Amino acid sequence: MSAKLLEGRPLAEKIKEGVKKDIEALKKEGFPLLLSAVQVGENPSSRVYLKQQKKASQELGIDYQIKELPSQITQEELVNFIESLNQDKKITGIILQMPLPSHLNARQIQVKLSPLKDVESIHPLNMGRIIYGDNKISPPTAGAVVELLKSTGQDLKGKETVIVGHSEIVGKPLSLLLLQSQFSSPTITVCHIATQDLTFHTRRAEILIVAVGKPQLIKADSLKEGAIVIDVGINRVPVLDEEGRPVLDEKGRPKFQIVGDVEFEKAKEICSYITPVPGGVGPLTTALLLRNTVECAKFQKTSLT
Ligand code: NAP
Repeated sequence: MSAKLLEGRPLAEKIKEGVKKDIEALKKEGFPLLLSAVQVGENPSSRVYLKQQKKASQELGIDYQIKELPSQITQEELVNFIESLNQDKKITGIILQMPLPSHLNARQIQVKLSPLKDVESIHPLNMGRIIYGDNKISPPTAGAVVELLKSTGQDLKGKETVIVGHSEIVGKPLSLLLLQSQFSSPTITVCHIATQDLTFHTRRAEILIVAVGKPQLIKADSLKEGAIVIDVGINRVPVLDEEGRPVLDEKGRPKFQIVGDVEFEKAKEICSYITPVPGGVGPLTTALLLRNTVECAKFQKTSLT
């Protein structure tokens, strides 16, 4: 069996088309969008995300600004800064880039974000709405997994669904999103670092979602034949030749590639659907961040009228 590839880009393009129309309509009503990303200190991987976010936002007509703050900023100063963004009527969405320097308490700062401008859907109010199934936004990566599952057209009713990883931005909200009635409640198991026999769970999963950040964590022989596999993991690993030696570029430096958490080449011979990495969850995550940005602008517009 060779799996169908669940590519994120075509779905992302469709979502972006809808987002673009909404942005144009909001602009006509005198409600332009401005997304403000807060970066505390230096972080090379955040730089890459900021660049991607800026490009994607501007393509759809969302203004994007980066607010760079020094790494020594105090908790109180950062809270005051976030509150100033909350008050600024021109700013319609706020992103707080993670990780924050270790002397700052991220959760206490996230709570200070206006839930109406919380485009990453991390504020407890927006997380809480997911439990009741009345959320208009969700954490983009968890939402991306849902969109990919929906795109298979498969009935999820009662399906054995295993999520590996229980982070606050992926595994936990995803488990709640999938329990919403629109998905006919698959039966969900959430695994984590303390799970005693991970393979026992993955081998019986009809739907498997892996969001850990460990390359090759899930081997092909730990999968159920015909499973739907969504690989959220992003790992930068050296390219190796057939003898396991690092492949070097023309300047003699090791070459790197991006892989997921699942042993992709062998896994695709066993499962029915699988996401590639890169090109699966990633492009959809960005599209859903922008959809959330529009939804947040609509919340603010409604709260003004
Ligand atoms: P995270 O906060 O580090 O969470 C990783 C989770 O994996 C934790 O719940 C951890 O459990 C669990 N875990 C670690 N080792 C495990 C093991 N051996 N067996 C079972 N569970 C294990 O990471 P995250 O932010 O959720 O991201 C996860 C991965 O997704 C990363 O590779 C990240 O780069 C990627 N990601 C991709 C996108 C995208 O757009 N494609 C977006 C976000 C994240 P404990 O907490 O109990 O240790």
